[in-house]
Amino acid sequence: ALMIEARGVEKWYPNGFHALRGVDLCVHQGEVVVIMGPSGSGKSTFLRTFNAMEDFQKGSIVVDGIEISDDLRRIDAIRREVGMVFQQFNLFPHLTVLDNLTLAPVKVRKRPKAEVERQALELLERVGIAEQAHKFPGQLSGGQQQRVAIARSLCMEPRIMLFDEPTSALDPEMVQEVLAVMQELARDGMTMVVVSHEVRFARKVASRVVLMADGEVVEVAPPQQFFTNP
Ligand code: ADP
Ligand code: ADP
Repeated sequence: ALMIEARGVEKWYPNGFHALRGVDLCVHQGEVVVIMGPSGSGKSTFLRTFNAMEDFQKGSIVVDGIEISDDLRRIDAIRREVGMVFQQFNLFPHLTVLDNLTLAPVKVRKRPKAEVERQALELLERVGIAEQAHKFPGQLSGGQQQRVAIARSLCMEPRIMLFDEPTSALDPEMVQEVLAVMQELARDGMTMVVVSHEVRFARKVASRVVLMADGEVVEVAPPQQFFTNP
């Protein structure tokens, strides 16, 4: 199934800057698409259009069958489908790890607390943080915090996961533990779009690599082809 279908997407920022100049991208269920390219080329802007965090002026984007428009109910439906992990972990510092995971499912989705906690603990186990469930984010390493952020996103049961430079804020020794969790998620069949400079991850895990430059997609290829081109 087609999970993301972006066609001719153009975006101008309010200051007039033309950040996306007619970009197309299709992502099928279970694919891992890694977006690469120089800083300022529009990777993050493009990624954020997929969960309607960023608006655009031309073109169309359909996410899991829902066309993005400024209809708030549709935006809400799309955000239910699409989880996002940022460079900065964006955890609530005053909540425990476990409460970071359960807050939105319980308060926003109105799911039963006991059920959500059970699921949250399973997810923390899966990302290797079960022992830290009752600590606060500030007591964890950066790599652990990012794994909590991934688990928190999964607790909302998304069908698609977006990652915006998820390892860029980490000390080098913590990068691998986060990439390992992402690789596991990919192996379990999650549809993922990842903005990252991690070439080894892209080589190993990507279904396709997308190269952006100056607001355009300039190349799309499977990794074995992408990384051997002259
Ligand atoms: P990348 O993720 O590839 O580094 P971004 O998508 O963050 O690129 O940014 C693309 C371009 O859009 C950059 O030149 C950036 O300066 C510009 N840009 C980003 N946000 C804004 C904004 N709010 N207003 C104007 N220009 C912006
Ligand atoms: P990234 O790490 O995604 O490349 P940036 O450092 O480019 O992020 O941008 C950080 C924040 O500043 C973002 O919210 C972006 O929208 C905003 N921003 C970036 N460039 C500009 C710009 N030229 N004018 C206004 N805001 C900008």
